[in-house]
Amino acid sequence: MPDTRHTRVLIIGSGPAGYTAGVYASRAMLAPILVQGIEPGGQLTTTTDVENWPGDTSVMGPDLMVRMEAHAREMGCEIIGDIIVSLDLSVRPFVARGDSGTTYTADAVILCTGARAKWLGLDSEEAFKGFGVSACATCDGFFYRGAEIVVVGGGNTAVEEALFLTNFASKVTVIHRRDAFRAERIMQDRLFAHPKISVLWDHELAEVVGEHDPKGVTGVRARNVKTGVITDIPARGVFIAIGHAPASELVAGQLETHNGGYVVVEPGTTRTAIPGVFAAGDLTDHVYRQAVTSAGMGCMAALDAEKFLAGHGA
Ligand code: FAD
Ligand code: NAP
Repeated sequence: MPDTRHTRVLIIGSGPAGYTAGVYASRAMLAPILVQGIEPGGQLTTTTDVENWPGDTSVMGPDLMVRMEAHAREMGCEIIGDIIVSLDLSVRPFVARGDSGTTYTADAVILCTGARAKWLGLDSEEAFKGFGVSACATCDGFFYRGAEIVVVGGGNTAVEEALFLTNFASKVTVIHRRDAFRAERIMQDRLFAHPKISVLWDHELAEVVGEHDPKGVTGVRARNVKTGVITDIPARGVFIAIGHAPASELVAGQLETHNGGYVVVEPGTTRTAIPGVFAAGDLTDHVYRQAVTSAGMGCMAALDAEKFLAGHGA
């Protein structure tokens, strides 16, 4: 039966920003409710080793997020497996509707909906999604044991995915549209030293090629961005690793966004233009986009929300 839950602080999202906001809001005795969304634990659940989380030389992303969830829960945060499908920031208290049928009303909202994988937008990419085309090596790499694999992109994600995929693949070809990666130097060095990986510079993915019965990828066509010359590369798996877009649909038309959908906050704070609405993590950050910076912003958002609520006697 549909029900309504009221909370002083509603945290939307369960990545490092959301869980950290949960820890701090709980310790401020605000009895927050955190709604996890479709990806409990957020983006780090799609990776393997995380080597830059302070205090852990190396930790598995999914393990780290299980620990963060347990920490937030232990502090008193109520964690709910639901997806917010609409959010009305024009009324007080704010109203969020869950996919479960539950309505959440809140005196303050902390938005931590993070970011999602971007796609190239090719028809052939769409046609073979789930049948050879993927955006998550951790999730799907295992399916390509002994196969040739293509990775598209030049950031940390692409380099990390390429390295991870060498655990399964006979060969990994990274296709990048420029002649230099933007990934961290240490990651690039590992990639260049790997005998199974080769890089096709200055190329873009023109088409994913495959068969339809049974459905599966057989290769890609890569176009040289300078000469237009096409190179055919055999592959059974194609991993698109070209970055992530902020998940700001819930607040579209309600909050200002910039740089392709990132929610604008007052510099140095997590305050949005609507008093009582705060945003943290990758949703607001087109520059750093790290677990530790997201967690830091989650902390800031809980402290900002606490100050707001104290000032409003809520
Ligand atoms: P996210 O982790 O993106 O989580 C967003 C959350 O919002 C999810 O729980 C989702 O379910 C929820 N959500 C979305 N919409 C809704 C909705 N409508 N209702 C309810 N909930 C919703 N960073 C590092 O520092 N080190 C690394 O080694 C590292 N490796 C990475 C590897 C990969 C493959 C990727 C993709 C990213 C990596 N990053 C790494 C970046 C890091 O994961 C992100 O910066 C960080 O997870 C962002 O945290 P966040 O809390 O802002 O959001
Ligand atoms: P990113 O840094 O934005 O890199 C995206 C890459 O894809 C860029 O090389 C870009 O090319 C390319 N690209 C974008 N659109 C394209 C298109 N339409 N066609 C072809 N290529 C395209 O994204 P990311 O690698 O996902 O990283 C996101 C954030 O998470 C970063 O802050 C990163 O540091 C962080 N992260 C960290 C780690 C880690 O610390 N170990 C691991 C993964 C991610 P150009 O270079 O030409 O723009």
